[in-house]
Amino acid sequence: MPALDSATQQALAARLRFYRDLGLTDLYRRPVDPAILEAIASANSDISRAPSIPAASSPEWVGDHASQSIHQEQPIPPRKPISAPPSVSAAVPPSDRAAALRIIQEEIGDCTRCALHTGRNKIVFGDGDPNARLMFVGEGPGADEDAQGLPFVGKAGQLLNNMIGAMGLKREEVYIANVVKCRPPGNRTPEPDEANTCSQFLFRQIDVIRPEVIVALGATAATYLLGQRQPLAGLRGRVHSWRGSKLIVTYHPAFLLRDPRQKKEAWADLQIAMRELGLGVKTK
Ligand code: URA
Repeated sequence: MPALDSATQQALAARLRFYRDLGLTDLYRRPVDPAILEAIASANSDISRAPSIPAASSPEWVGDHASQSIHQEQPIPPRKPISAPPSVSAAVPPSDRAAALRIIQEEIGDCTRCALHTGRNKIVFGDGDPNARLMFVGEGPGADEDAQGLPFVGKAGQLLNNMIGAMGLKREEVYIANVVKCRPPGNRTPEPDEANTCSQFLFRQIDVIRPEVIVALGATAATYLLGQRQPLAGLRGRVHSWRGSKLIVTYHPAFLLRDPRQKKEAWADLQIAMRELGLGVKTK
């Protein structure tokens, strides 16, 4: 097969990343007709010309993104097993939750339980109110998070802050954590053994916090929280019951930065979370 030019490579990588964000990870390769590659490149430029959906009742972060296109790279990992979460532990009184989280953090220590430790700078344990009613779960730290030791402090974090603000909340009022606590090299998706090892600590954090609502940000969070791999489209837009909390699945903010047209869908998901929390949903 002739080498692909870099624009086509980028278009293909963006498409694969897009599928992964939607939870479609079982893809295979076959010889590609150059006409198909051309069609993909032209489809991407068609996407960037697609008309916008009016954003009348949406907050500012949703915006109007008719003219933006999708950028991204990254290979898709093969399907591998996901381990079942441990059973729910006894409730921790609100006054003890901060201490209980510190115990988990101490237990994690200078973790070497999976390969991700070799490339990390800081472990990103989690951040926010130990008594939060709402918790967000992302995939894993990126470069900024790895440098600062805090979740969602980079560009995706800025968008997440805006999303939280649009819900009428402050970032300090919620709790934010990730499936894995160490940065995967090149921001790749965590491997199942890494996610399964690390998510046991996430489950314990959730058991301590006992949020009323958990928002899973993206396919990785949804997959490891629910213990099953399904396309995001089939998981979004409804309330799942999870270990005593209500779980809502939406797009990852990094995905929304790549494809801002999906922000309206994400806002609809956040409004479900708001309804569950009894927060006022503005209809404008
Ligand atoms: N993406 C994530 O999934 N988590 C972070 O903390 C930052 C970016």
